[in-house]
Amino acid sequence: MSIRNTAVLLAGGRGRRMESDVPKQYLDLCGRPLLYYSLRTLLESSVITDLVIVCADEDRERIQQEVISPLLADAAKSGRTGEKRQQEMQQKLRGFAGAGAERSGSVLSGLEAVAWPCDYVFIHDGARPFPDEETLIRLSEAVQQEGAVIAAVPSKDTIKIADENGYVASTPDRRYVYNIQTPQVFSYELILKAYQLLREKALQEGPASDWSAASLIRELGITDDAAAAEKMCDQRVKLVESSYRNFKITTPEDMDQAWAIAMELQEKWDASLLQISVE
Ligand code: C5P
Repeated sequence: MSIRNTAVLLAGGRGRRMESDVPKQYLDLCGRPLLYYSLRTLLESSVITDLVIVCADEDRERIQQEVISPLLADAAKSGRTGEKRQQEMQQKLRGFAGAGAERSGSVLSGLEAVAWPCDYVFIHDGARPFPDEETLIRLSEAVQQEGAVIAAVPSKDTIKIADENGYVASTPDRRYVYNIQTPQVFSYELILKAYQLLREKALQEGPASDWSAASLIRELGITDDAAAAEKMCDQRVKLVESSYRNFKITTPEDMDQAWAIAMELQEKWDASLLQISVE
């Protein structure tokens, strides 16, 4: 039986650091909203079989109209092959899950929405528009061996750990320092258990609706999914080589670099549509 990989695409943040009224997933990037790019790459990926989008309930309509509809229309542009591509994408797209107050609440909401066969989950930040197919394939192969793998690139900068007064306390050896990205990929059962255990513990100190903001999560240093698997399930997590292009849009300056990559991608997609229609 073939492996089933679900992508959980996170678009539930409000992007406060972007100094914009428009949440960052809708910012215009070369004529398409930012979220379009990761959604298209994931839906076109040979290793993703299902996908759920996590967003605020009031955003569903907007995502449907501004992201999904243009994407399906673009996919269908090349005649009969295009219609088949569109159908495949529609089948993968399973629907929406509600966002949580914090990222961890959104992740668990996405995981609990999975109501179809699922071996592994690819948790991906919608704020990273440029995951690439080669990395998705590497992650898919590695997770079948390891159970927990994360996209990473070697740090370009020297990293210093500072003390509370702003003095250098230590300098980790750069050979072992990486910037961690998403997708973070796990056996579905493992990561679901990790987050459910986390919620159970967090609920002891916070209101049910806002458990993901509990101080316990900060104390445990759970800022990504790997940390939840490490801390709650003692899981060893393997780093998998990714690309520097898969950066997270955080501040307005990041958009300049993103435009250049988005233009390149659009050209590649247009060329592949042309090729299909000629065949
Ligand atoms: O805020 P930050 O850039 O760290 O968010 C990372 C990703 O998590 C973004 O794609 C954002 O939309 C998502 N997120 C979410 N629900 C939240 C907070 C963030 O889905 N409550």
